[in-house]
Amino acid sequence: MSSYTGRFAPSPSGPLHAGSLVAALASYLDARAHHGRWLLRIEDVDTPRTVAGADRFIMQQLSCLGLHWDGEVMWQSQRHAVYQAALEQLQGAGYLYGCACTRREIALANAGGRATRAVTGLDTPGSDDERPYPGTCREGLPGGRSARAWRLRVPAGIERFDDRWAGPQQQDVALAVGDFVLRRADGLWAYQLAVVVDDAAQGVTDIVRGADLLGSTARQRVLARLLGQTPPRVMHVPLVLDRRTGLKLSKQNHAPALDLHDPIAALSDAWQALGFDPIALPGTPALRAGASTAMQTLIRAFLAEATARWAARFVPAR
Ligand SMILES: [Zn+2]
Repeated sequence: MSSYTGRFAPSPSGPLHAGSLVAALASYLDARAHHGRWLLRIEDVDTPRTVAGADRFIMQQLSCLGLHWDGEVMWQSQRHAVYQAALEQLQGAGYLYGCACTRREIALANAGGRATRAVTGLDTPGSDDERPYPGTCREGLPGGRSARAWRLRVPAGIERFDDRWAGPQQQDVALAVGDFVLRRADGLWAYQLAVVVDDAAQGVTDIVRGADLLGSTARQRVLARLLGQTPPRVMHVPLVLDRRTGLKLSKQNHAPALDLHDPIAALSDAWQALGFDPIALPGTPALRAGASTAMQTLIRAFLAEATARWAARFVPAR
């Protein structure tokens, strides 16, 4: 075992689809190629979007695909006390403040400056990229107002990091995002806080995930350091687009669940979406549909070959 710890962290808002499998496979292969651990974390912190039973279904899908995780599964919905402690740590250090602003007030404040897009969605990854918080409550709540949400006082400066897929990145978080929410007005924990706290708690050294989260990375690194942590290395793999609509395959865009009658076909599609050449395996589709032990052998052979090719491309020789 190396010191590498990776993770796959799906939100249980529906079953895995072809897009989420690409992220799962990439993070699995990177962990195995480093002889590291691969953990599974269920990101069910956004309870209104959680679908009952989807977590167990995702776990079944991963097992069916031969993507076996190490150790115990972590559920974010059970970690309220840990997130509360992190919030209090930040408050004690002066990095937290209460915010009374409504979504509409923030949009209006921003409309005076740069052009803003329509304000949509919740505080989900990426959705607040286009509406930096104008800092209204930074120096204290307006008279007669009380705190709805809790925000991080983002320090000035440019955050730079290397993405193992996308290359050098930089963002002025204070300018591009502003003081972002850690605890939402509806009382839920923000994704950004939960993910940073949990990556540290699980000893994650390497994050491999979809490119839709690249835009969240700089603020997560800022938050990690304010909590006294070393931010993990990151690799953001390309998203799978719907051939018909050109949109990102996602649960929100109604991507169909994976067809697991032919797990090798599902794995092959994800593998080639990562830019690799096909892997030739013995056996016809008829044989593949036969005994499940034969199928498990084929899946193991596929993943072993994929791990070797991944290592050759992404793991520097020592
Ligand atoms: Zn405010």
